[in-house]
Amino acid sequence: LRTPIIAANWKMHKTTAESKQFVTEVRDPIGNMENVTIVICPPFTAIESLSGCLSGTNLLLGAQNVHFAEEGPYTGEISPAMLTELGVRFVIVGHSERRAYFNETDATVNRKVQAALHHRLVPIVCVGEDLAEREAGQTFSIVESQIRLALGGLDASAAEQAVVAYEPIWAIGTGRSASAANANEVCRHIRQTIASLFGDTTANKIRIQYGGSVKPETIQDYLQQPDIDGALVGGASLDPQSFVGLIRAAI
Ligand code: 13P
Repeated sequence: LRTPIIAANWKMHKTTAESKQFVTEVRDPIGNMENVTIVICPPFTAIESLSGCLSGTNLLLGAQNVHFAEEGPYTGEISPAMLTELGVRFVIVGHSERRAYFNETDATVNRKVQAALHHRLVPIVCVGEDLAEREAGQTFSIVESQIRLALGGLDASAAEQAVVAYEPIWAIGTGRSASAANANEVCRHIRQTIASLFGDTTANKIRIQYGGSVKPETIQDYLQQPDIDGALVGGASLDPQSFVGLIRAAI
């Protein structure tokens, strides 16, 4: 009942020329696949030209960050309307790298989620514990608190538009991933948290991805889990063959 959603988070990789070359290589093999939502989140600089390359395909555009204000004196920032104007449909919010290196907090994540939804951008809301928190047995309480704060102030009809990405920090870019069963337990806890906030209907509609060292060889294990509806992929999304492999394995 929930369509799987596979999103490529390219982080700070690929110039515009490299981004266009990637799309040239993947659009025929995967550009018309159905029953899967495929999102590419390039750097801001490549968004406009990819918008042209992706039209007429099933590949959707996402951004990696957004500011919460409509406009204003925020040097270096990008507003929601600047993204929607270019055909962007999704935006990653609160990625752990932004929380760690760019001072994002649960409070700013919440403002960004609200701003995105207000502009009909689907926020991909990232949550996840670090290694010390996991070893201290705090995984459930950390992700629960992140979810409550990120989705605070929304009503159920807005919340169900969002996508959640569970990304344990210790699994990002490390080659060390959560087992599918364990990732599912955390995603189930996230869904239960959403149910307690917004009710079962919203909790059953919202899509929850796993992220952290997902590879074409492992994506199926995650997607077979009942509470995992997709993947947010960094490293393995950068190479066209590998990305095609991820999508083929996912459907
Ligand atoms: P990797 O797939 O490179 O571990 O990155 C995961 C991630 O952070 C996606 O947002």
